[in-house]
Amino acid sequence: MRSPLFDRVAIIGLGLIGSSLCHVMRRENLASEVAGSARSAATLKTAERLKLCDRLYADPAEAAANADLVILCSPVGTYGALAGKIAPALKPGAIVSDVGSVKSTVIRDVGPHIPEGVHFIPGHPIAGTEHSGPEAGFAELFDGRWAILTPLPDSDAPALEQLKSFWERCGSPVEIMTPEHHDLVLAITSHLPHLIAYNIVGTASDLETVTEKEVMKFSAGGFRDFTRIASSDPTMWRDVFLNNKDAVLEMLGRFTEDLTELQRAIRWGDGDKLFDKFSQTRAVRRGIIEAGQETADPDFGRKHGTQRESAKKSA
Ligand code: NAP
Repeated sequence: MRSPLFDRVAIIGLGLIGSSLCHVMRRENLASEVAGSARSAATLKTAERLKLCDRLYADPAEAAANADLVILCSPVGTYGALAGKIAPALKPGAIVSDVGSVKSTVIRDVGPHIPEGVHFIPGHPIAGTEHSGPEAGFAELFDGRWAILTPLPDSDAPALEQLKSFWERCGSPVEIMTPEHHDLVLAITSHLPHLIAYNIVGTASDLETVTEKEVMKFSAGGFRDFTRIASSDPTMWRDVFLNNKDAVLEMLGRFTEDLTELQRAIRWGDGDKLFDKFSQTRAVRRGIIEAGQETADPDFGRKHGTQRESAKKSA
């Protein structure tokens, strides 16, 4: 067993991502002690039952006290207030990071609270499922999934190296980029697809001519895949759209233009255009599978179990 990278790590927010970090830290012996904090008594109780952490606190500042690494794992809209709460407890030399799906506004909200001598290095694991809460987590979540770090221009190089090693030992290859670039890339690869899923499932359930029962009964593969994405946590995704407004609106503009082009092709019977577009998109999926970020199994490999089960099977 390799020696721990940190003496004490504090995880603030024990949902899908926070609890998965607790599991993988235990598997990889990443910390001598894991401290956790969650908002509700119910989550703290579940975390205790699941033995997610060595120590649990209702107060995030108590969890962060004496920690060498603090990772914010709650919805991004909570980060500013949380950073204000934990700031006085942070020890000099500690690293503060996060897992938020948006980076520019997190830097805007958290940055001003970080005391002199504490290293703030934002991060985002590109790993997740549509499930949330402390019971949704599992150690394999990060295996082979990218972790993006968006250090600030004056970020401490050894602290960045240590955080990079942390994610690598969690199973994630690490990519470094600017927060603005992160927000633009994620707007098209993650945020817009979620918006489209929420919208299409919403439209289907609002249709007056098709009863909700029929939507369920005849839901074909395409619609079913959208419902999976559209069942993702509403608080988390509300915060993502409120915090990545500009990049999402930019991508939504491009998406709408391309959709209008497809609409015109259907109207004018332009089969060549449709065929060319669909061939181009098929190649994109092949590329994702070849890059090891997806499985070629029908139903994204989810038909016969959850990602946790497939991960266990392939482990
Ligand atoms: P989640 O399963 O819904 O868990 C959120 C956790 O945050 C819960 O433990 C919740 O506590 C806690 N929390 C909420 N408000 C809080 C507050 N004001 N103070 C302290 N704790 C608070 O969410 P998640 O999916 O793990 O997402 C967490 C973060 O990871 C988000 O920033 C998200 O953008 C990012 N992320 C998510 C995914 C994904 O696919 N889900 C992927 C990558 C990154 P209670 O249970 O007590 O309410």
